[in-house]
Amino acid sequence: MSRAFNFCAGPASLPTAVLERAQQELLDWNALGVSVMEISHRSAPFIEVAEAAEHNLRRLLNISQDYAVLFMQGGATAQFSFIPLNLQRGFGRAAYIDSGHWSSQAIEVARKFTDVEVIASTQGQGYSRAPYQEELDLSSKFDYVHYTPNETIGGVEFDYIPDTQGMPLVADFSSSILSSALDVSKFDLIYAGAQKNIGPSGLCLVIVKRALLESTTASGYLPEVFNYRAVDQASSMLNTPPTFAWYLSGLVFEWLLAQGGVTAMEAINAAKAKKLYSYIDQSEFYRNPIEVHHRSKMNIPFTLPDKALETAFLDGANKRNLLNLKGHRSVGGMRASLYNAVPEEAVDALVEYMQQFKQQHI
Ligand SMILES: *Cc1c(COP(=O)(O)O)cnc(C)c1O
Repeated sequence: MSRAFNFCAGPASLPTAVLERAQQELLDWNALGVSVMEISHRSAPFIEVAEAAEHNLRRLLNISQDYAVLFMQGGATAQFSFIPLNLQRGFGRAAYIDSGHWSSQAIEVARKFTDVEVIASTQGQGYSRAPYQEELDLSSKFDYVHYTPNETIGGVEFDYIPDTQGMPLVADFSSSILSSALDVSKFDLIYAGAQKNIGPSGLCLVIVKRALLESTTASGYLPEVFNYRAVDQASSMLNTPPTFAWYLSGLVFEWLLAQGGVTAMEAINAAKAKKLYSYIDQSEFYRNPIEVHHRSKMNIPFTLPDKALETAFLDGANKRNLLNLKGHRSVGGMRASLYNAVPEEAVDALVEYMQQFKQQHI
């Protein structure tokens, strides 16, 4: 069996050790004679899986009991609606920072439910960086301030946590959660779809300050399963959750703890990203357009000197088992996603291939 190096932006690579363990346990989980997918979410063995996953996530990110951890469905996209519907504090407007594709999507969706003010945007700079703190217009009162710390498609990552002058800070961490140390106490709500850096799709994590939930008035039209307070009270089991995704995410959390936690991952991820960016910058062939201090460590887009070379580049990569390097259709070029589960050897193999390809095409 040979596992390819998978640079997919999402659903993305999972740790081989986790997949092997899931494979071993698949037919006969916990000596029950059935798989974990085939038991009640309300059974004691599954509740144990669910609670262990939450406990280990809390350990990894040092999440205090002041925060609820919710295991929700509908992906990060559903949160684009749930956030304005849940976080109403009487101001009737929300502030959004626009740094690329996903923050723009969040803005477009939120407009259906609240007045949205875009308090800073780098669209005019072609999203080649994130807005700076000095550019954020916080002169009005808002229900909350929303931003996207890592833009998965553009490859732009904030190098600071916005200061919102006391207003609730909401962050879409879908593509960078658990990739580096994070001070959760600086945020009021963090959400992350699982399929980038956590586990299989179908699950979306929400880490939310309980004091914020108590101070908000959720829309009367909000269905129970989308209501943060109701989901919290039911321990994310108002109805059947995606049990297999929850179980597998729990295995990933155990794996992360065994690697040394997020600080260990941060060092590995920094080394991986540095290797690829250094090569791109000195190659005089490949190019990354993002300002250096706002370059993403998880998603690295790069272009070739001529669009006509792209198909040959991707074909050659596939032949070497370097998969899913095609960039998003909205930005073009290539993109290598280097999530936690992508080992440093994958970056070595990619850089070696890029060197060979360059030699053949200059
Ligand atoms: C992938 C992604 C989303 C969308 O996630 P879905 O689970 O497909 O809804 C939103 N935000 C960011 C930052 C992402 O990377």
